[in-house]
Amino acid sequence: MTYDLAIIGGGAAGCSAAVTARQRNLSALVLYSGDGALGKARIVSNYPGLPDIPGPELLGRMREHAAGMGAEFKHGLVRRVMPLGEVFSILAGNDIYESRAVILAMGTARVKLLPGEEGLVGQGISYCATCDGMFYKGGTVTVVASGAEAVEEANYLSTLASVLYCMEKPHDVSALSPDIRRIDEKPLGFHLEGDLVKTETESGGFLADGVFILRPAVAMTQLIPEVRTENNAIVLDEKLMTSVPGVFGAGDIAGAPLQVSKAAGDGNTAALSVAGWLIRQGRQQPAKEAW
Ligand SMILES: Cc1cc2nc3c(=O)[nH]c(=O)nc-3n(C[C@H](O)[C@H](O)[C@H](O)COP(=O)(O)OP(=O)(O)OC[C@H]3O[C@@H](n4cnc5c(N)ncnc54)[C@H](O)[C@@H]3O)c2cc1C
Repeated sequence: MTYDLAIIGGGAAGCSAAVTARQRNLSALVLYSGDGALGKARIVSNYPGLPDIPGPELLGRMREHAAGMGAEFKHGLVRRVMPLGEVFSILAGNDIYESRAVILAMGTARVKLLPGEEGLVGQGISYCATCDGMFYKGGTVTVVASGAEAVEEANYLSTLASVLYCMEKPHDVSALSPDIRRIDEKPLGFHLEGDLVKTETESGGFLADGVFILRPAVAMTQLIPEVRTENNAIVLDEKLMTSVPGVFGAGDIAGAPLQVSKAAGDGNTAALSVAGWLIRQGRQQPAKEAW
C-alpha cells in the first residue's frame, strides 16, 4: 500500500500531524522508535487545557487520539527515506514502506559520528544489516553497536559472515550468538586498508571486509541526505516544507523553541501543507468535508 503521508516520529509533532492528516482524509502512517523528549518530561505545566500533566500521560493521550482517528502506528527505527519520483520509499527496522509525502518529526535526537565514518558510508560502512548483509556472505564484518537493539541484527549477520562485536556504549549483550566474537574496546574511528575497513581502537584496531554501525538513532545526513540543515536543525519554508519537495518538518527537529505546544502547532501546519501539496501535485483528491 502507498500511504498518502508517512510521519517519522511519534511525539507531539508527529501525533498532531497524524490527527490533522486524518481529519483531511489522508492515509497516515506514523513510524516511531521510542517516546522522545515528551516521554522524559516529568510534568508539563504549559500545555493549554491540560495543566500539570505528566509527559508520558500527555504522549499517551496524543497517540490514542491519532490512532483513534485512523492513523496507523508502527514501531521501528527509520534508517533511510529515499525520494523515488512520485513516491518515497522508507526503510524502518527491516521493513519498507511507501508514501506520497513525508513529515520529519524526529525531535532533537542527535548522532555523533565517529572519525572517518561519513566518508566510508557505502564503501565498507553500512547502517542496515538486512539491506547489505548479503554482500559480506562468507567474509568478516565488524558490528559497532550502541544499544541492545543491535544484538538481533548482529545475530542475523552471524548467519552470513564471521562477526566481531564492538560496543560504542555499554548495553545488554546476553542474547548475542555464541558464534560472535566480542571486542572489549571502544571504536575510535575508521579507515581503509586496501579492500578492508579498519576499526581503530586504543590498542590499534582490527580489520574486516565491512562494518555495520547499528545505533538506536540515525543522523539526518544518513536518513535523508538531500534535506538541507543549518545549525543542527532542518531548514523549512513558510509551509514547513524542507529543501526536498514533498518532505516537510515539524517540532524540535526544526529548532527552538523546544516546546510541546510549538511541536503540536508545527505538526498541524505541516499536515495541512501536505494536504494542499498533494492536491496541487494531483496525488490526492480534496477531502469531502469542507472546513
Ligand atoms: C525532561 C524534559 C522536560 C520538558 N518539559 C517541557 C515542558 O514542561 N513544556 C514544554 O512545552 N516542553 C517541555 N519539554 C520539551 C518537549 O518535550 C519537546 O519540545 C517536544 O516533546 C517536542 O516534540 P517532537 O514531537 O518534536 O519530538 P519528540 O517528543 O522528541 O518525539 C520525537 C519522536 O521521533 C522518534 N524518532 C527519532 N528518530 C527516529 C527515527 N530515526 N525513526 C523513527 N522514529 C524516530 C522518537 O522515538 C519520538 O517518537 C521537555 C523536554 C524534556 C526532555
